[in-house]
Amino acid sequence: MSKLQFTKAFTQQEAIPEQAKQRVMELLDSGRLHRYNTVGNELSDAAMLEQEYAQYQGRKYCLACTSGGYGIHIALRAMGLQVGDEVLTNAYTLAPVPGAIHAAGGKPVLVEIDENYHLDLADLKAKAEASNAKILLLSLMRGHIPNMQQLMTLCNELGIKVLEDCAHTMGASWNGIKSGNFGQVAAFSLQTYKHMNTGEGGLVVTDDAEIAARLIMHSGSYMLYERHGAAPAPEVFENIRLVSASMSGRMVNMRAALGLAQLPNLDKNCERWNHRYNLLNAAIGAVTGVDIPTRDKRESFVGSSIQFRPTALKMDQMPDFIAACAAQGVELKWFGESQPKAFTSRYDSWHYISPMPHLPSTLEALDRTLDLPVPLTFDDEDCLLIGAVIAQVMAEFMAH
Ligand SMILES: *Cc1c(COP(=O)(O)O)cnc(C)c1O
Repeated sequence: MSKLQFTKAFTQQEAIPEQAKQRVMELLDSGRLHRYNTVGNELSDAAMLEQEYAQYQGRKYCLACTSGGYGIHIALRAMGLQVGDEVLTNAYTLAPVPGAIHAAGGKPVLVEIDENYHLDLADLKAKAEASNAKILLLSLMRGHIPNMQQLMTLCNELGIKVLEDCAHTMGASWNGIKSGNFGQVAAFSLQTYKHMNTGEGGLVVTDDAEIAARLIMHSGSYMLYERHGAAPAPEVFENIRLVSASMSGRMVNMRAALGLAQLPNLDKNCERWNHRYNLLNAAIGAVTGVDIPTRDKRESFVGSSIQFRPTALKMDQMPDFIAACAAQGVELKWFGESQPKAFTSRYDSWHYISPMPHLPSTLEALDRTLDLPVPLTFDDEDCLLIGAVIAQVMAEFMAH
């Protein structure tokens, strides 16, 4: 049989909705690009995005800012992190997550994950008891949501506040509750490869008025906090406005306009991701020698990426397997690779973490994990062809 060939790019996102283009042109014509450059009672696009996202998410307060990582950084400060404090976080996440802890002056305490990419609660308990950490930065990496009820119960028992990193779970939920509505604060990313694409951007939500006020001050609000879209009452700012350092990370109106145009389609797009995910899951899951972790029925995830394990392969076959798939147009990310490529998600790439722990369970899960993004520019045939390429390459490896 001749070799199948996939030719589409895994990094191509969809076009931005038409109405956003018009709005961006209007903004350019007006010259009012800065979020506080408003006329009269006009609500800026940044403020409108805050209002609409708070409503979508079902949270009282929302701040729009420059990036997801920046949002996490100021959320840690707003939650009371002091320089030198330890912060519990998943060992499997993306580099901006430990980076945000570092930026806030904190020290990451990495917690093991299990084979389903969920935080290991026994290790969380042990690390919480052995450290002075008061905050868990729960990174829902690649959209895998653990049993949130168990996790929140444990954190409440331990007196640990939770900050959810929802970069991959915007639009997802666990047991009917939206991801991002469990912890005290949650951060989302609007970077091109997440669920809304403003190029770069972040949203931070909370129901805590004082934390919301601190977030707004940290984001570089000058004394213009009344021009926010989903902010607490002005009195809440009185006590904190002069003690919350300004760390410029404001949302720009043009980017907010892109987000505003996409938000009405978010739930529909999540379904479109899941449709593609289900096709890939069925096709790749049917390949002999491949295993896909099962997911809890209560987890309503967004399938914007898929992870699978080629259990039939030995570790030293992985590079050749990945190269063979790449030669047929299917680019796989291997989290087990010792040298970071494109982006890092292996904790041992972050050498500024000291002391560097040894986390055997996390390493074992990552050593076996291959990862594919699922862009909405792929159609049904593309998903089936990707599955067929992986099946074909695997069959060759099994034959030798
Ligand atoms: C992208 C991402 C972030 C941070 O988002 P940026 O907007 O790129 O700063 C945080 N956590 C995870 C898991 C991510 O993938």
